[in-house]
Amino acid sequence: MTDHLPLDPGLVEALTADSDPYLSCDDCFEETDVAVEAVLGTDYGRHEGFSEAFRVHLLRCPACHDEARSLAELIAAEFGLTPAEAAARLEAELARAA
Ligand SMILES: [Zn+2]
Repeated sequence: MTDHLPLDPGLVEALTADSDPYLSCDDCFEETDVAVEAVLGTDYGRHEGFSEAFRVHLLRCPACHDEARSLAELIAAEFGLTPAEAAARLEAELARAA
């Protein structure tokens, strides 16, 4: 079998660029609870923030990004935040330079 799928150069670039440090969606999902709670928690500003791998993954993976934001909105009240405030804090953490 000599046929091969044509690869979109843009897609290849998206998949390979900046993939280090690498986190799979499964790994990312396992980190989401703890990472989001840390960012919403009272020690925000003192904690180390998202791990670089986690942050990079969320910036590149809309599915995990949505998952994290949904979780932040869901648990916002536990931290005395509105869902909008919690989502904003998550975005701010993602936007923070490493
Ligand atoms: Zn993902």
